[in-house]
Amino acid sequence: MRDHDTRKFSFDGYEFPYELVLDNALVGICFVVDRRLLWTNARMNEMFGYPEGALNGHSVRVLYATQEAFEAVGRKFELVSRHGRYTHELEMKRRNGETFWCTLSGQWIDPGHATAPAVWVLQDITARLRAEDQLRRANQRLEQTVEARTRSLQRTNVTLSAEVDRRRAAQLALTESREKYRTLFRNLPLGLLVTDAQGTATEINRVLQRSIAARSRSHAMELLENDALVLTDDGTTSLATLLKRHVTGDRQGIDRFEFHWRTGTGAVREIAVTAAPLRSHGLGATFAFVDVTRQRRAAERERQQQEALAHASRLSLMGQMASALAHELGQPLNACQSYVGGLQLRLQHGGATFADVQLAIDKIAGHLERATEIMRNVRAFVSRRPVPQVETDLGALLRKTLALMEPQLRAAQVRPEVRADADLPPVRCNAVEIQQVLVNLLMNALDAMQDTPVDERRLEIRLEREKNAMLGVVVRDTGAGIPADVAARLFEPYFTTKPTGLGMGLMICRNIVESHGGALRLVASRCRGTSFKFTLRTVER
Ligand code: ADP
Repeated sequence: MRDHDTRKFSFDGYEFPYELVLDNALVGICFVVDRRLLWTNARMNEMFGYPEGALNGHSVRVLYATQEAFEAVGRKFELVSRHGRYTHELEMKRRNGETFWCTLSGQWIDPGHATAPAVWVLQDITARLRAEDQLRRANQRLEQTVEARTRSLQRTNVTLSAEVDRRRAAQLALTESREKYRTLFRNLPLGLLVTDAQGTATEINRVLQRSIAARSRSHAMELLENDALVLTDDGTTSLATLLKRHVTGDRQGIDRFEFHWRTGTGAVREIAVTAAPLRSHGLGATFAFVDVTRQRRAAERERQQQEALAHASRLSLMGQMASALAHELGQPLNACQSYVGGLQLRLQHGGATFADVQLAIDKIAGHLERATEIMRNVRAFVSRRPVPQVETDLGALLRKTLALMEPQLRAAQVRPEVRADADLPPVRCNAVEIQQVLVNLLMNALDAMQDTPVDERRLEIRLEREKNAMLGVVVRDTGAGIPADVAARLFEPYFTTKPTGLGMGLMICRNIVESHGGALRLVASRCRGTSFKFTLRTVER
């Protein structure tokens, strides 16, 4: 290198010493002979972390990170034409073992000479690679972010368009339901009224306007405020007050009430109202009005007809019992007659003492009392006077009924057997009607046992406590029984198998029992004869 030290080159009249130039270069420069370092410049020493001159004489192996890299570069450099330049990027190693990336560029100084030195220029590209790597990663991150944003945007778009669709559908449904509501409100054959949360009417449909004889909506609103048109148990009030009371009261859920409405002509209509809160009174309430006057009148007429029919049937039953009753009445009357006759005779002959007269009169009074009792029972049974439903002891009613039927039972040679559960609760009923059911079932049983030998005739009446606060009455006979085809038609009106029967008895009995909330049916029986059972609601204390 000494030779080099003194060599200079001149340019434009100036002379530059080589070493100065080489040491100030920003890249590492070295001369290599036979893969040994001959000289390294200051930048190269700095790059590899060696003091000045420390690398001189060393194999270039110390500069390579691995043995493979060292051998690979040697082979490739040999192959490169001696006129050519070898450039490569490689991982190198500093003195402290740290690796870094370099660009290597080597060239023979004298290509014709086999052992001539080669000059190598090395540039630390770690910073560049790192920057490139950072750039690449930043790019990657950017791409990922963009991708993620795009995906999230796409998702948002999908959600948004679903939301738009949903809102559009909801809007459509709302319009549709409003339209439906409006159509219903206008066209339902029901009077409808809507109030706000204070109970003030906000909507009133035409049907209601018509039924309160309002000429227009505003007239209807006026009529609502008129406090002489609604008749309640405690006087008159306005419909508006009634509605307000209802909406602001503490009644929850659907509620029903009725009132009487006085029309313009003075007629009184019966109105049934169904009130339903709009979300628990928070928004007000809806009221549906139905004029039930006609319905009520029809029901009342039907009830009266049923009553008349039941009465006719009682008369018919009484007709059937008439001869036995006449016979029964004949006995006390005959007895009275003979007491009176005897008394007359004694009085004519002057042989009667006060005590005799007293005794005869007591006997006569007793027999007359018996006849009166029979007549009282008969009159009560055939009476048309409406009887209210009252708490009744069914055992006592049965005993009274058997007393009424005593002549009939005696004539049929049947002794009824009564079996009753202990502590039977009372039932709420119309005693005359339930007595009619008992008489009807007992008379049918007696009819059915006409051909049964006398000693086989049994008539059993059982009073039983049932489930669900009901009481059951079973009437069982040992009569002819009921064939299946007859059983299927038993409760049809006018169905009878008797020559003089009306065929109305069982149908009327069923109506009576059902109007008391009970049921009447034929009970399947394994023994001879027939069993009928009816139930009534008990009054539990
Ligand atoms: P009616 O007694 O006038 O015929 P009912 O309606 O009381 O009318 O009875 C209808 C029919 O049911 C009777 O004709 C009879 O055939 C039958 N029936 C009712 N009760 C009995 C019974 N206990 N045993 C046999 N048949 C009966």
